This record gives sequence, structure tokens and C-alpha cells, in this order.
Amino acid sequence: MREINVVIDELKQVKPDVFLLNFKSANIAKKIKPFQFFNLKVDTQATILRRPISVHRVDGDDIYLLFRVRGRGTKILAAKKKGDILNILGPLGNGLKLTSQFQKTKLNILVAGGIGVAPLFFLGQRLKRQTVNSLEPDFVLLGAAKEGDILCEREFKKIGYKVLVATEDGSRGIKANVLELLTRKLSDLAVSCGDPKKLSVNIYSCGPKPMLLAIKPVIRRYPNVQAKISLEQFIGCGVGACCGCTIETKQGYKKICKDGPLFKLEDIV
Ligand SMILES: Cc1cc2nc3c(=O)[nH]c(=O)nc-3n(C[C@H](O)[C@H](O)[C@H](O)COP(=O)(O)OP(=O)(O)OC[C@H]3O[C@@H](n4cnc5c(N)ncnc54)[C@H](O)[C@@H]3O)c2cc1C
Repeated sequence: MREINVVIDELKQVKPDVFLLNFKSANIAKKIKPFQFFNLKVDTQATILRRPISVHRVDGDDIYLLFRVRGRGTKILAAKKKGDILNILGPLGNGLKLTSQFQKTKLNILVAGGIGVAPLFFLGQRLKRQTVNSLEPDFVLLGAAKEGDILCEREFKKIGYKVLVATEDGSRGIKANVLELLTRKLSDLAVSCGDPKKLSVNIYSCGPKPMLLAIKPVIRRYPNVQAKISLEQFIGCGVGACCGCTIETKQGYKKICKDGPLFKLEDIV
């Protein structure tokens, strides 16, 4: 982890309130792991605390961040321009370690609620790159309020994922939330494998915390379905010093910025 200045290569608006920012760093691109994030100094006066944003995708030396404008900090970030200097601290967090080349033994399902898709796309890229026997395509389930809010559908399809969509107003995909979509997908898969106990799936999810916790009852009847969730909440220092992002787990208190942001769902109390 280090503090560096990077030059913004491009910052484009992909939705009315969502922006894609990219910068180059060969060093970071080589080492970074899915679910790691940067703590960005968006301004020197208006916002004292840095703002955490996940790695969204990595293409060669290019690192992309996808963010939704929420308040003051992200509004300042969205107003930056190509060529501006951005001070970043990172990569931070305990990223997911994927062994260099591995045989896929379980189906992966990536479940995104809204902007929660941001870190999942980088995971999707890495799972594809490192899996050697991916005959069976993995699934991405995207949830959004309406059609216009759906993010990354085309991008996931392009790298070989089967994408299913749920919108709250029914303007695209099924009219439901993404958990309903997950419930139906698991149930279909259990029927095809003949026994819910044999269904073997890894779920990775990011989105609002209530949505993430609501995955627990959905997977209860499948003993071989495990879920890992990426938690987002206010982060102070980002390096485990201020303890501002501490949460209670079955293994005691953990810091989202240092021990997470990815946790086993079963460990969250
Ligand atoms: C590890 C981590 C990774 C993240 N990755 C991304 C990402 O890739 N893309 C992205 O768009 N966002 C991401 N976030 C959330 C992002 O950090 C916040 O949206 C941002 O800090 C808000 O700053 P702000 O100054 O714009 O909003 P503020 O002015 O600080 O707050 C505006 C409103 O948003 C709420 N809010 C602010 N931060 C959060 C939060 N973390 N969780 C829930 N509610 C919040 C506040 O309660 C307030 O109502 C991540 C958060 C964490 C902890």
C-alpha cells in the first residue's frame, strides 16, 4: 500500500449519476486483487476524509474505477478532468486471492445490487483469466431500479458470462429485486442437478447491506452454496488504524478496510 499521485486518463459519464474514471499504473495493475480499493483524496479542503472506491476493471496497465455520485466527495470527483492529478492511497483491503490457474469445481454466480457491480466486474475478469476448465458459463445477476440504471450488462456478456437482469419497475428482465432472481436461479439449478444438497455454487455479491444479509435465507437450503459479500460503509483512514469501519463477526470484531471488504456471509452476525 502506498500513497501516489496518478494522472486521470479519462473520466466519462456512463449514466446520469455514474462515472468511469481511468488511470495508468503498471505496478498496481500487476499486483491488484479483486475487491481491493483505493482511498481517494478528492479535495484538499471541502472533504477531509478520503473516499473509498473499488477497482472496477484492469486492462493491461489501465485501471478503471466506476462510481456513483452520492454526496459531496463523489460530486467533486465527477467534476475532475482528463489530465488532473488524483492522490490515491492503495491498493487497500484484503483482496480475493485466486490461485494462478485453477480448475473450476463450482459454478460462480455474481450478484450485483446497483453500483455494487463495480468490484464484481474485476472479479469477473480475473475468474475468466484464471479458470482453466470453464466449459460451463458462470452467471451474473444484475439488479436495478429501472432499465436505464443497469450497469455492465454488455461488458459481462462480452467476457463470456450469462447475464440475467431484474428491475424493480419491470422495464427490463423480471420485475423483482435481484434476490428474487437469485432464488429462482438457484431453484432452477437445483432441479437440473436433481438434489439441492448437490448444488455446488460460489456466490459473490456486492450491494446495499440489507440486500447482502438477505442472501442468508435464500441459500439456507443448499449446503454446498457459499456466499462471500463485499461490505460498503463509511471508512475513515482505510488502513485499519482508526477502527471507524469495525463490524462484528463470528470471529470477533473485524475492520472492513483491512480484514475486508470481502467476508464470508456466514461469518457476519
Ligand atoms: C470498500 C469500499 C469500496 C467502495 N467502492 C465503491 C465503488 O467502487 N463505487 C462507488 O460508487 N462507491 C463505492 N463505495 C461507496 C463510496 O465510498 C461512497 O459512495 C462515497 O464515499 C460517498 O462519498 P460522498 O462524499 O459522495 O458522500 P457523502 O457526502 O459522504 O454521503 C452522501 C450520502 O451517502 C451515504 N453514504 C456515504 N458513503 C456511504 C457508504 N460507504 N455506504 C453507504 N452509504 C454511504 C451517506 O450516509 C449520505 O447519506 C465503496 C465503499 C467502500 C467502503
